[in-house]
Amino acid sequence: AAKEEGKDRGLLYEPAMEMELQRLQAMRERIAQALLRSHLQLVFQPIVYIDGLAGSQGVAGMEALLRLNDSGKELIEPANFMHVLDDPQLARPIGRYVLDEALRYCQSWLRAGVSIPVSINISTRHLLHPAFFNDIDAVLETYPDVMDVGFGIEVTETGPSMDHARAKIVIEECRRRGIRVGLDDFGTGSASLSHIQQLDIEHIKLDQSFVRDILDDERNMAIAAGVITTARMLAKMVIAEGVETAEQGDLLASLGCHQLQGFSISRPMPGEAVPAWVASWAPPASWGSLVNERQS
Ligand code: C2E
Ligand code: MG
Ligand code: MG
Ligand code: MG
Repeated sequence: AAKEEGKDRGLLYEPAMEMELQRLQAMRERIAQALLRSHLQLVFQPIVYIDGLAGSQGVAGMEALLRLNDSGKELIEPANFMHVLDDPQLARPIGRYVLDEALRYCQSWLRAGVSIPVSINISTRHLLHPAFFNDIDAVLETYPDVMDVGFGIEVTETGPSMDHARAKIVIEECRRRGIRVGLDDFGTGSASLSHIQQLDIEHIKLDQSFVRDILDDERNMAIAAGVITTARMLAKMVIAEGVETAEQGDLLASLGCHQLQGFSISRPMPGEAVPAWVASWAPPASWGSLVNERQS
């Protein structure tokens, strides 16, 4: 037993691992402080539709993305604190902040004369938290106009810890409230299209990894085409994320993808910039002919 313990200790005090643990812990503490000091903020990235009713095109909504803003300098992206988003103690406070802030902005856009749906990313931890609907209902009560405009959540099916049976019930409960539910990062995890069919979700987001080299890699192009075709047959919408060039957008449009999101349309922006962006955005001329081509 002593020998075993020695081994464990050897592992635990591996310097590189110890440093990594300290880094994770320090970031967790930083986010906890940021919550207390209002040093979190949201930016918003547009989602546009290329293939709406009668081939119409326009702005479908804004996705809220979290940033840490505690240095007075640059905004820090979630890649640096992904582990904290699903932290047992912090996932819910973070989620409540994002809910409140996103709906507050949506209501302010409406006051500015722009009716634009908002969506947020929900951690699995918060989605499956017993008090999740307390948080949802509280915020819907505070910002009652938002449900008329449109409110959506994006969930990711993460790992073996995901309780699929419970997630299904929670998603149905969301839909009963009129909340749109989408599955984020589709294609990277284990969710299959048949799984999608069983869940009461409105759309899937085709992961950036398929979009990135869709023009150069025939396999990724084949996967994207297959996902879009099958999703359409199941009456689910497909949003492609990470569309960085107009050519990628054109190809996805010709494959029948419903909506696009990515740097080629817009980078994430402050909430204050949203009404002016929505008012001034116009779809690229190429989309119209691509959609018509596919439909004829
Ligand atoms: P996601 O929900 O899949 O968001 C897409 C990410 O891709 C965003 O990164 C966005 O800025 C980035 N992106 C958008 N268009 C492009 C593009 O054309 N090219 C490239 N290279 N990247 C693009 P971000 O904001 O750093 O967020 C990363 C992830 O962090 C999100 O992935 C989401 O899983 C998570 N996240 C962000 N905000 C929240 C939040 O409020 N709550 C929770 N629980 N998770 C969040
Ligand atoms: Mg997302
Ligand atoms: Mg995604
Ligand atoms: Mg992602």
